[in-house]
Amino acid sequence: MRVHVIGCSGSFAGPQGAASSYLIEQEDADGRLWRVLMDLGSGAFGPLQSAIDPADLDAVIISHLHPDHYLDLTGLEVFWAYHERDDLGQLPIHAPAPLPDRLSAVLSRDGIVPDGVDRAPFDYRTLSDGHRFTVGPLEIGTRAVLHPVEAYGFRITGGGSTLAYSGDSDTCESLDELAHGADLFLCEAGYIEGRDDRFSGVHLTGRRAGECATRAGVGHLALTHIPAWTDPQVPLAEARAVHTGEITMVQPGDILEVPA
Ligand SMILES: [Zn+2]
Ligand SMILES: [Zn+2]
Repeated sequence: MRVHVIGCSGSFAGPQGAASSYLIEQEDADGRLWRVLMDLGSGAFGPLQSAIDPADLDAVIISHLHPDHYLDLTGLEVFWAYHERDDLGQLPIHAPAPLPDRLSAVLSRDGIVPDGVDRAPFDYRTLSDGHRFTVGPLEIGTRAVLHPVEAYGFRITGGGSTLAYSGDSDTCESLDELAHGADLFLCEAGYIEGRDDRFSGVHLTGRRAGECATRAGVGHLALTHIPAWTDPQVPLAEARAVHTGEITMVQPGDILEVPA
């Protein structure tokens, strides 16, 4: 399994790149490459087009409905609805239930069918806690995590390796379960200790991400979702102070191989 970092800026697009979006690739037994897009936040549809032709996507999974995780679906919807190819079919979008209404509101439209076409480009599938589904060779499981809105982390298995993704979450038991024994744990560290102590139930710090990685016994901890106003070295040092395993800070354009 391979993860392309399309965007990883926390909470809003930053000068170095877009908000959260990750492309997951896995070959099946017949050698067909499957592509699942995990989140498509503010600014991320641009760099996605540098990584792949979006027409090759097989599915999209959305962790929660904060703009830095879903808002560029507006661009993908235009792309899919009005594309010159007429064989694209409907793109499955696995997301919290309010997504279709939310997108329609952003687009000042009633219903899920764009103007001038006769069917919805997206096939919406509703996520819930403990939900499991497959996309080609990828098995995807969800857990509800601790965030101010309905939010999910994902545990994705394929090709003998396991990826866990926190989405946005503060420390919680379900996040520990989600990450348990994962080969790669892509985990947010949007806050830093001290500066952000007055907020709870929203984001992890580098320290809390590292503590979760230790409890879960993960292979590689990849920190992400660092906002533009935070020096990434700070959450990285916090995590390294409490977790002795491999830790890296992701950058836009990184390609992470999930070890089997
Ligand atoms: Zn976020
Ligand atoms: Zn959020």
